[in-house]
Amino acid sequence: MNTNGNNNERKRIIQKTLDSITHQRKAPKYLFAVLLFLYVATSVIVRVASGSHESIAIGGGHVPIAAFAGVLSSLSNICMIFLTLYFGKAGFLTSLITLLIQFPVIISVIIMHHNMNNLPGIFGNLLTIITIVIIYFNNRELDSYQIRLRDQAVTDRLTGLPNRFACSELIRELTKNDEKFAVVSIDINGFKGINSSMGFDTGNKVLIEIASRWKTIADTGISGTLDFITRTSGDEFVLIIRNYHSDEDVINTIRQYEASLKNRLTIDNCDLYITAGFGYAEYPSDAKKGESVFAYADVALHEIKRAKSGDHILRFTPDLLKIERTIEIEGKIREALEKDHIYFNLQPQYDMEHNLRGFEALARMTDDDGNTINPGEFIPVAEKAGLIDKVDSAVFRKSTIFFGKLLKETGADLMLSINASVRHLMKNGFIDEVREILKVSGIDPEKLEIEITESIMIDSADKALKCIHELQDMGVKLAIDDFGTGYSSLSYLNSFPANLLKIDKSFIDKMNSTDSSRQYVAAIISIGHIMGFDVISEGVEEDAQLETLRSIGCDYIQGFLWGRPLNEEEVVELVRSSVKI
Ligand code: C2E
Ligand code: MG
Ligand code: MG
Repeated sequence: MNTNGNNNERKRIIQKTLDSITHQRKAPKYLFAVLLFLYVATSVIVRVASGSHESIAIGGGHVPIAAFAGVLSSLSNICMIFLTLYFGKAGFLTSLITLLIQFPVIISVIIMHHNMNNLPGIFGNLLTIITIVIIYFNNRELDSYQIRLRDQAVTDRLTGLPNRFACSELIRELTKNDEKFAVVSIDINGFKGINSSMGFDTGNKVLIEIASRWKTIADTGISGTLDFITRTSGDEFVLIIRNYHSDEDVINTIRQYEASLKNRLTIDNCDLYITAGFGYAEYPSDAKKGESVFAYADVALHEIKRAKSGDHILRFTPDLLKIERTIEIEGKIREALEKDHIYFNLQPQYDMEHNLRGFEALARMTDDDGNTINPGEFIPVAEKAGLIDKVDSAVFRKSTIFFGKLLKETGADLMLSINASVRHLMKNGFIDEVREILKVSGIDPEKLEIEITESIMIDSADKALKCIHELQDMGVKLAIDDFGTGYSSLSYLNSFPANLLKIDKSFIDKMNSTDSSRQYVAAIISIGHIMGFDVISEGVEEDAQLETLRSIGCDYIQGFLWGRPLNEEEVVELVRSSVKI
């Protein structure tokens, strides 16, 4: 693409964007000819009619033909007004010249034929000329004001580059035409630092200089692709690349924009060395929607900033969405902890005769927009981010206070199971925390059960065992959660002072599919019993599963079949009704 071609294309796009956002007085071209023709035709009829002494019969009376001249003359003048209104300068000049030409014609008719019927025509023409002059100059002022407004709407004031609006309009147009393009989201590294240490003025000059370097590349077309550079906000720019063949072309173009920053910027006598991150996504290969390409380019940019790996150019991949989501959830957990928005549900556990054994407290979290994030998603993030102990503590504290009150009020004899992560259990203050919640809630230690996963025995067996023995001395019960999903060693299990073994839902799900799966669950139950544990099956959803578990000697069940996780009110209702029975 040559320089001119590139420049013209940019101008065309900007013009199109401008047009799309403003209402213009537009009329089809043929209307010009129609109005002119109407004018000439009515004028000729007026001339003929005004010289006529005939009359026509209307409704029993006779109306002179000359009387129609006035009406038609007004009609012809209206044509001139419309011409000026809709066709700007061309319309105005055509009208003016046409109206002026009429004067000698009318005057000569008056003089030669002594026909005074044409005299009002002169005044009519004069008034029309005044009207079109007023309309034309008034419109011209309005148009220039509108053009200025339109320019401002699509232009970034500071740098003169097209703005975010122009950028999204172009993306909309390209996706509409199903044209291939890449969106590059650009962020200047350390720009905040420049602003805060050197002031906003210097920051602005930096942005202006960068914009001017990038505009030169885009306008001259030296990158070999068709580029459209925009400033979307602050230190963020978006580059749209078109007319490329391969991903390599896109990277080469981005490299040119990156390279243009390599020469230092000298601003206010200071040498600045600027770098930027370039995250990009391509349409339609990375995303099928315009907004998504935009968002995905941002995702890639965020990853560059997060990873701090030194790579300044990164293409979007679907994996990045997971990272992005993890970061988002981590933020939400921190916020929920700060605002004390972590709460709990309680899921009932029953013996095989459907008598309530107790409840398991399960963490719940809703974000500021009221969206519920499920623990399957946020617990692993909290674990990785080192926040799980705080989440655990919030559930510990809230669920025990609620449950202690419930037991006191109803006199029910029920267990409360709470989940403790490895990290939480290994914390030095863990035992003190348990003591404290027992004291505050008034729950009998025998009625509190702490669920830990078997991985704890592999990761930190000695320290874990010490902690577990202390809990046992306090009278608190222990459950081994998700049994069968980790690397259980029977010798560890044997030395583990647990009371309850929880068989993971994955085993219950497939238990009835084959005979060996059923025997596998039966074997776990037997081993649990041999070691002196009670056994509870998690995730029981069907009657058939319940029947099988009954037949192979399971002690308790927890699952949607008999009870989903409940909120506080629902728990109170359930406990009250079970106490009555
Ligand atoms: P978990 O401790 O094994 O808890 C049982 C999970 O299985 C719960 O999921 C429960 O809602 C779900 N469940 C129970 N019965 C059924 C069923 O019949 N069908 C299905 N589809 N699901 C059933 P939830 O609440 O989503 O929790 C998931 C996991 O998150 C928990 O598994 C636990 O490992 C963890 N978690 C939840 N709350 C806490 C907490 O406060 N602290 C810690 N450290 N982990 C927690
Ligand atoms: Mg559990
Ligand atoms: Mg479990």
